[in-house]
Parts: sequence; C-alpha cells; structure tokens
Amino acid sequence: MAMVDLPAPPFSFPTTITLACDIDLNSTTDSATMRRFQFVNRNLYGDAASTQVVMRAVDGMDAHAAPRHKPSPFSREPAMPEFAIVRTVADLRAQVGAWKRSGQRVALVPTMGALHEGHLSLIALAKTRAERVVASVFVNPTQFGPNEDFDAYPRGEARDAELLAGAGCDLMFAPGVAEMYPQGFSTSISVTGVSEPLDGAARPGHFNGVATVVTKLLLQCGPDVAVFGEKDYQQLQVIKRLVRDLDIPVEIIGAPTSRLEDGLARSSRNAYLSEAEREVAGRMNLALSEAVRRLKAGESVERVEATGRAALERAGFQRIDYFEVRNADDLSHPGPGPWSGPGRVLAAAVIGKTRLIDNMAVE
Ligand code: AMP
Repeated sequence: MAMVDLPAPPFSFPTTITLACDIDLNSTTDSATMRRFQFVNRNLYGDAASTQVVMRAVDGMDAHAAPRHKPSPFSREPAMPEFAIVRTVADLRAQVGAWKRSGQRVALVPTMGALHEGHLSLIALAKTRAERVVASVFVNPTQFGPNEDFDAYPRGEARDAELLAGAGCDLMFAPGVAEMYPQGFSTSISVTGVSEPLDGAARPGHFNGVATVVTKLLLQCGPDVAVFGEKDYQQLQVIKRLVRDLDIPVEIIGAPTSRLEDGLARSSRNAYLSEAEREVAGRMNLALSEAVRRLKAGESVERVEATGRAALERAGFQRIDYFEVRNADDLSHPGPGPWSGPGRVLAAAVIGKTRLIDNMAVE
C-alpha cells in the first residue's frame, strides 16, 4: 500500500501519499518503464462523480516529488500524458467525447483483466491506429457457464492498471457488474452461424455473453477501431459478424497471438497450470503446427483432425473438446478431403481444471 496524505481542498500536492490501491511504489514497480509513478488524485475534488486514481509512469522521476502533469509554459518539458481509471459509462463517454471533439482517433481494447504480454501487444497495435487507447477490464459474468471458472478467474486491478499505464494506454474502463447489467437488464445479442460450432457447441451461451458485452462496450465507448486477439479466433469472427450486421461504425482489427518460448499461447488461464500441466499445455501449439504442415503437404482434413486429437491425448490432455480444420472466414467445415485454403486449425482441450484454446492459420 502506497501512502498519500490527502490535503484539504483546494487541492495541493502532498509529499507523501496514501492511495486506496495496493501498488507498493518501493517493490512492485520494477520494470524499465515503470520505475517511477506520478500519482495525481485528480478527480477526488473534481467534477467527476467517482473517485479515481490517476497515474503515469515517468522514467527517472521521484515518486514523491511534486507532479509535473502541468508544466510551466516556460518549461521545455513536454506535457505529460495521464492515465485514468473510469467506472461509469458517463465518465467514459465524457472522456472519449472530449478526445473526439479535438480530432483524436480512439481505439478500444476489451479485456477481462489479469493482463499479460498478449494483452499489451494489443495495446501496442491499438496505439499504431489511434491517438488514444481505452482498455476495458471487466470479467463478464454472462459469458461463463454455471460450472465454469467465473469465481476463480484471476483478478488484480491495481496490477492491470500499472501494466496499462506502462504500455501507454490512456484510459482504463473498469465498470462494476451493476454498471454493465443494471437491474432489469433483459437483452441478449445472438449471432447465428459462425458462433455455433466449436466453442459455441462446447460452451452453450458463451458467445451470446461475448456478443452482448462487446456490443455494449462498442456502443458505450464509440471507438474508431477496436482490437481483438486472433488467440480467440472464433470470438474475433463473431465480433466481425455482429459489427457488420448491426452497422456499428467501428473497424475491427485482429492481432496475432503472442506466445511463450515453447509456443504456448499466453493466456490469463495459464496461471491455473501446475508445473506438470504446463508441460502438457505446451504441446497444443505443436499439434496445431504439425496439422498445418500436414494439410499443406496434401493430407486429408479428416486424417489431420484425427492425428491432432490423438496427439493431444498422447500429450496428456484429459478431455478434447475439438481439434478441427475450418474455413477461415465463416468457420464452416471444409469437408473430409484435401484442404483448399484459406483455413484455420482450431483446438480446445482440458488439462486438470484448465481449459485451453489455440488456433493457427493455414494459408
Ligand atoms: P481476455 O482478457 O482473455 O478476454 O482477452 C482480451 C483480448 O486479448 C481478446 O481480444 C483476446 O483475444 C486477446 N488475447 C488474449 N490472449 C492473447 C494472446 N496470447 N495474444 C494476443 N491476444 C490475446
């Protein structure tokens, strides 16, 4: 816990600070870009309805020094960008609206938090497409089935905020469940076709939850572009479909999958894996790349799928939900014969209590 003794309004910056968050300035801010923080309790006495902590990584800056977010007009120091957390749709719209009125493009990166380098690669891509980047952090209850890991899903807002600030994200939208699903909420977005096979069959209701929350996030934020990972390839196709079908004015961008050294796709759920399970998990991407190689060599789809399932079983996965070749755009099945692209090989399997998914392109 870092400390900020808040002064009485009107606001003046203290030299020691107690913050209502669990970032320890002395021990956790160890990455190169996060050596120092500037903490500004900007909205505590401001106009915004909710209390927020605003912070920004500042290389070489003393954490206890007076903040420099408003440099003197005579200083040659550039104005420091700020990072803010908002929790209401009203505050999100106010900030995004201000950016848009000043001609800045806005990108949205929706996440469920427990951030890793894969998420941060999406932020980096978003920054190449817009002047401002908003990341949402919301563990969406409606996309989890009754026996799934909603309660156990890893959460850590302070760490997420720290990582987002360090990655150059401008705004974190972290609504509570009541903000997203107020009393009486009764709407569900259902995308047919592309959401039906694979995870749609294995996780009934999952894509209705995803489609509903992503539609809400897009309408709440109104970004020019939104970035989603190819790691969740079917989800990406479902979102592209709903944006076309509902005429939502946003460009959807797919980002390549970020992987660990042995090729395992980065995932928040990797945190569940024991050491032995982690070994097994690393074989899924090998089975997928082997499938891509075999398809390109002319082996039939039917044979490649059977070989892939057998490889996952041999590796030690306890349940295989699917290992399938699909057409890349609509995820229809290409039939049992030789592949003719563009395609995607997709797999989902369970090891211990962890369900992993991954996919690769066949081009
Ligand atoms: P999640 O927090 O798991 O809902 O993921 C949020 C976004 O990050 C989604 O668009 C995911 O597809 C994307 N994502 C998750 N893992 C990766 C990864 N390893 N590489 C690239 N994008 C990812």
